[in-house]
Amino acid sequence: MVRAVLFDLDGTLVHFDYDEFLQAYIQAVSAAVAHVLNPRTFARELLRCTNVMLANEGPRTNKQVFWDEMLRSIDCDTKHLLDAVDHFYRTDFPRLRDRLRVVPHPDARPMLEHLIREGYTVVIATNAVFPRIATEERMRWGNVHGLPYTLVTTYETWHSCKPNLAYYREILSTINIKPEDCIMIGNDLQEDVVAGKLGMRTYLVDDYLVDHGTPHREPDFRGSFDDMLRFVMSGDLEGLWA
Ligand SMILES: [Mg+2]
Repeated sequence: MVRAVLFDLDGTLVHFDYDEFLQAYIQAVSAAVAHVLNPRTFARELLRCTNVMLANEGPRTNKQVFWDEMLRSIDCDTKHLLDAVDHFYRTDFPRLRDRLRVVPHPDARPMLEHLIREGYTVVIATNAVFPRIATEERMRWGNVHGLPYTLVTTYETWHSCKPNLAYYREILSTINIKPEDCIMIGNDLQEDVVAGKLGMRTYLVDDYLVDHGTPHREPDFRGSFDDMLRFVMSGDLEGLWA
């Protein structure tokens, strides 16, 4: 039977275009460190070090891999850079919400509250490339923050990233639930639907579909956010495993 529901965050629970977000984010964070490091150098290194982090499979955390790589390759005052990035997440990052015109879906929070009340293990399975403060902020944008989730994956504690199956295995071992008893709900045809390889059911939410164009599995289910909402709220979730 289904015991765990895993949700992607960006473009799934919180409604915005991820490419537009990434562009605004990279520009804003690079500008925020300009007094310490050339913004172009930082933007280039941010992408390069993120790619190194995306390949991580432990034992270091994603955060350690990212910053080890960054601080090894650039020549600047480490403390000033870390302070500038920290300051960015506290002050400038929240402002991206207005730039992207993010409006919460009115039924997202009630759906999550319903699942938690019904006893499901609910996981925010967002790619563990961001600090906790940035993930909590994006959850706020979608009005899905502050709920008693079993797990929210962030770069401080995680040792792998999507679309590596190691990311999903790390979730399974943390929540101690078999893949057959999980459903992964996301908007990315590769990064989210790949969970099906381990035996999880998958639901592709296609309002803000991301398709990298590489070969992919077919999801078990596909629909708009409203379709998914009806699917989850109507008891179909239990019917699946009956
Ligand atoms: Mg997404």
